[in-house]
Amino acid sequence: MSKPSIPIKITCPECQGCINLEVEEHSNLCMYRCQVGHTYSLQEIIKGKEVQVENHFWTIIGLLEHLETLYEQLLQERLEAQTLSASDRQNIHDRLACVARHKQIVLTLTEENTPPPLNDGDE
Ligand SMILES: [Zn+2]
Repeated sequence: MSKPSIPIKITCPECQGCINLEVEEHSNLCMYRCQVGHTYSLQEIIKGKEVQVENHFWTIIGLLEHLETLYEQLLQERLEAQTLSASDRQNIHDRLACVARHKQIVLTLTEENTPPPLNDGDE
């Protein structure tokens, strides 16, 4: 007899595939299995999601740094070509300040984002 398998609204931490929750009939143990077969206990999938959150924070920080570099390059190019209007100069400086502020906020989030230490659940 097959285990009950319930689709849930969480994706696989490894492949982003759909996940089904499978409950062992005798032990009531929950297992999370994605469409390609990645399998997790509840604690393992929480750890996987914690890693994803951390990685996404760093992805955002990287993207904001890219924007800083590119806007500074645009500013420099237009200054050298003498095509920088006063309004564009102000808009680019405003955006650079905003990007720097957002980067600091996300850096603070990464520092505060500390998953709790968890035992294996056997105790
Ligand atoms: Zn998967």
